[in-house]
Amino acid sequence: MNSAKLIAFNFIIPVAIALFFVIFNINQESLPKYLLSLSPYVFYLLSIIVIAISWHFNRIKFIFALLPLLMLYVSFMFLAKEDATSLFKLFSIVYPIHLIVFLLFKERGFFTLWGYLKILLFVFELGLVVWFIAFPNESLINIFQIKIFAFNVFPLSDISVVLGIFILFIMLSITLFGHLLIYNTSFVVMLVSFYVGFYFVKIPHALEHSFIVISLIILVLLIREAYRLAFYDELTSLPGRRALIEDMAKLGRKYSLAMVDIDFFKKFNDTYGHDTGDEVLQMVASKLAEVGGGKSYRYGGEEFVILFPSRERDEAFIHTDILREVIATTPFMVRGKNKNKKIFVNISAGIVQNLSSDNDPFETMKRADKALYKAKEAGRNKVIKA
Ligand code: GH3
Ligand code: MG
Ligand code: MG
Repeated sequence: MNSAKLIAFNFIIPVAIALFFVIFNINQESLPKYLLSLSPYVFYLLSIIVIAISWHFNRIKFIFALLPLLMLYVSFMFLAKEDATSLFKLFSIVYPIHLIVFLLFKERGFFTLWGYLKILLFVFELGLVVWFIAFPNESLINIFQIKIFAFNVFPLSDISVVLGIFILFIMLSITLFGHLLIYNTSFVVMLVSFYVGFYFVKIPHALEHSFIVISLIILVLLIREAYRLAFYDELTSLPGRRALIEDMAKLGRKYSLAMVDIDFFKKFNDTYGHDTGDEVLQMVASKLAEVGGGKSYRYGGEEFVILFPSRERDEAFIHTDILREVIATTPFMVRGKNKNKKIFVNISAGIVQNLSSDNDPFETMKRADKALYKAKEAGRNKVIKA
């Protein structure tokens, strides 16, 4: 289960975007008219930008989340009032289902079997909506009229609200237990924004603003995702080499640095296989992420760097040796054919503090690497300071 702190942290940005527009709409009266009249254009522009970036980065999910909203908004301008009402009712049922289905779909690109299936599903949804508008069906219209709540949710139908609550419940469970929190939290806020926009459809610009909120949330997601891809290692979720180089440029006058390497990792891979090796790397990285006094990076392979800004070498040594001890005493379960086996892995580390003669942190790193080599020679599972 994800920690409450992490979940709350991931909700901050999407919720802030949504709240901003709520406040904006409450104060509509006191805002200049021209600002509000720009809203449709802001929505068009934003959605086109978001769709273009999503296309470029192969984030098909987002294209499918936005495209229906764009199409709906455009159709509202052309449809007769009665048809627009039918479209509104049907869309408020189809879109929430559409949103969760596309959230759950794995990202597999556009021109792949999965991509084609998604397009097919979308075309089917479209066909369904167009069919219903062209040939209104009595029994379907009756579904919209079913009363479930004692209170009135007009212009939404009770059935749409029940569906929305059900989907919200699923999304919240995924948020609680699944990974990729930045996606799941964002989609929760997108779903709620959609319903708020639809419920307040009679208030001028409320619908556009809820669509702008959804596009903005996706835009922020794309930016955060690009940042994560650039600076974080996929396997271990630790910051990667690029992040290390950026952070090294920001170091102050005094700092310490540890070079860390897993012991006999090649032998481990050979014995238990590469996949188990990857799992061990993840376990070791999760301990490295919690190191006291410093920040860990995956330098490459099974090598890591810990930066200790403003720390003396001896302080860095204490933190690194605690880390070594924690890793050496944490059992790792290898799942075998017949039985599970408990194994232990060790790390070795070399620690240095920067010298005034070091031209840059890379020179400091070279000295740490030499200390690491000594730790290996001294028998491994050791931290050596130089
Ligand atoms: P030493 O104690 O001297 O460090 O021995 P070692 O076997 O750990 O050292 P070496 O550098 O020769 O081997 C590193 C091995 O780490 C080689 C490679 O198979 C493995 N390795 C590197 N990156 C990964 C990875 O991402 N996943 C897995 N499973 N193995 C990796
Ligand atoms: Mg190595
Ligand atoms: Mg090694």
